Amino acid sequence: MVLDAIETTCVYCGCGCGLYLHVEDSKIIAVTPSMKPPARGRLCAKGWLLHGFANHPDRLREPLMRRGDRYVQTSWSEVLSFIAKSFADIKRDSGPDALAVLTSAKATNEENYLLMKLCRAALGTNNIDNVARLCHAPTLFALGSSLGSGSMTNPIESLLHSDLIMIIGSNTTEQHPVVSFYVMEARRNGAKIIVMDPRRTQIAEIADLHLQMRPGTDIALLNAILNVVIREGMIDEEFIRSRTDGFDEVHDRVAEYTPEAAERICGVPAELIHDAAVMYGSAGDAAIVYAMGITQHAHGTDNVQAIVNLALATGNLGRDGSGIYPLRGHQNVQGACDMGALPDYYTGYQKVSEFREKFEDSWNVELPASQGRTAIEIMSSAGSEIRGMYISGENPALSYPDSSRIRSALESLDLLVVADIFPTETTRMADVVLPIASFAEKYGTVTSTERKVQLIRKAIDPPGNALPEWVVAAKLLEIFGISAGYDSSAAVMREIAALTPSYGGISHERLERGGIHWPCPTQEHPGTPVLYRDGFPRGRALFRHVDQHECGDGRFTLIIGRSQYHFHTGSMTRRVCILEREVPEAFVDVNPKDAASLGIRNGTGVILESESGTIRARARLSDSVSSGTLFMPFHFRESPANMLTGWQLDPHSKIPSLKITSVSIRREGA
Ligand code: SF4
Repeated sequence: MVLDAIETTCVYCGCGCGLYLHVEDSKIIAVTPSMKPPARGRLCAKGWLLHGFANHPDRLREPLMRRGDRYVQTSWSEVLSFIAKSFADIKRDSGPDALAVLTSAKATNEENYLLMKLCRAALGTNNIDNVARLCHAPTLFALGSSLGSGSMTNPIESLLHSDLIMIIGSNTTEQHPVVSFYVMEARRNGAKIIVMDPRRTQIAEIADLHLQMRPGTDIALLNAILNVVIREGMIDEEFIRSRTDGFDEVHDRVAEYTPEAAERICGVPAELIHDAAVMYGSAGDAAIVYAMGITQHAHGTDNVQAIVNLALATGNLGRDGSGIYPLRGHQNVQGACDMGALPDYYTGYQKVSEFREKFEDSWNVELPASQGRTAIEIMSSAGSEIRGMYISGENPALSYPDSSRIRSALESLDLLVVADIFPTETTRMADVVLPIASFAEKYGTVTSTERKVQLIRKAIDPPGNALPEWVVAAKLLEIFGISAGYDSSAAVMREIAALTPSYGGISHERLERGGIHWPCPTQEHPGTPVLYRDGFPRGRALFRHVDQHECGDGRFTLIIGRSQYHFHTGSMTRRVCILEREVPEAFVDVNPKDAASLGIRNGTGVILESESGTIRARARLSDSVSSGTLFMPFHFRESPANMLTGWQLDPHSKIPSLKITSVSIRREGA
């Protein structure tokens, strides 16, 4: 029997693995990996089981409108007219900035682009953001302002050329498994591996050095490594002189971050810090890989800048094997930002303050100049300045910090529209629920963590009357009188390419032959896998000194992260029975010494309490965390970890401090 095999891209993490969906009787029955990079014949457990949710009976099939305390099924024409009229009423009564749109990193580039256009051209506000605000906004800010582009400098494959890979704040084997395959292969080829993480993760187990610092002390550690690199003459003087500005101040100010001083802050022995610095500084081509352990802090931008300083000082940019690798959590979080689903940028990071006229001319409409709000600012204004919101494919009631406060904010809106493929904690609060097509039921493009734009292709029809979200956004634009006339997502990409220099040469037709790394300005341009080979877009790269911030208040520090078997708030993976069987409930990793002193055993129910809230979960004794540190994943609505997190924001990127929270822990019933 020959099955249809449709080539597409995985919907989960930012690795962007290519794969085939095998279809029989209009159902996806199996998944196999593509042989092209980055997958090269490999997938993680989530990828192999990708078909487990698309056919699930819980899928949203029809548009729903709230009537009292129940939902009634309605038609697309009725629901879209209702949304347009309700948003128009709010705009008339309270002004356009009373509206906001949160787009999805699981939606395609074309969908993010049209929702961005809807927000700015039809609703008339720059109040638009996406989940990058909660994961890699510091990357956008720090890499963008220092190097010129807030994105990964090299493709994943480049790691195979590295002599050394430094991994900080990334549980790579569990969260970006395919990247970890490359790290392992590089190690087999002779590369040294340094892992810096408060947890003894799987990747830490295979590292040449593991620096297990206290949570939140990354800057002290990175500055101390730079201190040794400078003192021992391992800087790249020619690179610094010819390609950078600002080194002298950094040189002088990291002098106080001796390994001994850093040991007092980080808890890592000075000798180990020294060894890591010598290993990094003496390597030929050295890469730095990081993820949300670096960014999700109230000083996330400074954390990223400390990484940039180290890479610049050693000249580790612009070559295969060198570079900075921020690993993105969602399939298309890079693309959502590229498409201008940000309050201050249009597509391709063209600033609203500089490029408004260009977009007005193209869209033939007057666009807002007012300052847009970021995601947490939108939530904090909900029910007061903000009265109506459109949320695409995200579940902030579980994924945003201080979930109780988020739920109150959403409840206080006059109109909440949520588009999704499954019922979630957030759709249950909506006035209108829109059923949309999953990744397997539509065409479009997504952009992976390595800036690679790739196609997703339709394998099956959406259930019931669910629609691709680009169709929904296009219909709303038409109701608002913004002439659209898009007959396909390929047509939407043609408009994106015309307006966006870094996507200028990208089209669905070209992508049929394989993914392309932006910047790709023309149809003839081959794309740019490695950035900064010949220089920096801003002329010279910029050092900026950063200091260690205060962290922790002496109670337990809870690290919030993920399990390899689940994705985000679990709306997809918890409906895949094999993944749910592997990790069916939340757990809290507790160091055995702490557990003994608190009378906690493996499996004991524990109560965690912070300034924001209280939750219950089951303890799991583990020496992967040090005494005083706890770890739990946030996927589980039964033990919603983000009830505990707060709204303290990084001043530069406005990311909330989701990664670490001070908590108390006690045995249930104690
Ligand atoms: S590594 Fe990421 S993109 Fe690749 S199969 Fe796994 S979840 Fe999908």
